[in-house]
Amino acid sequence: MGVIRKTKSIELLLEEFKKDSNAISAIELVTRLSSEINKTTIYRVLDKLEDDGVLHSFLGKNGIKWYAKCEGCSATEHKDIHPHFQCLSCGKVDCVTLDIQIPEIPNRTIMMSQILIQGKCENCLNSN
Ligand SMILES: [Zn+2]
Ligand SMILES: [Zn+2]
Ligand SMILES: [Zn+2]
Repeated sequence: MGVIRKTKSIELLLEEFKKDSNAISAIELVTRLSSEINKTTIYRVLDKLEDDGVLHSFLGKNGIKWYAKCEGCSATEHKDIHPHFQCLSCGKVDCVTLDIQIPEIPNRTIMMSQILIQGKCENCLNSN
């Protein structure tokens, strides 16, 4: 029984990412789906989708967690090591598919890194 409900939740969540080509914050997903899926399930499904290489997560402004669709990732490896851009005017966040080399740091091993670029998106730039 629980399995069916979980599948339905996954479908509903993925539907949101189909509609929206940008990243969506976890908070926003909880708000959008509150009538259909409870918060705990949403977070559990998001974790699973990230493990499966379907979505990747990163932290935006104020430490808020965001999710975006993966390109060519698998359950064993996430290939989306790219910066993310957050617009300070409208709050929109998207993936920036540019290669950025993280420099090596002597005597340290880098396990992961996150780059958040903040500024104004194309819509906001054109609207004033
Ligand atoms: Zn990924
Ligand atoms: Zn904007
Ligand atoms: Zn991304």
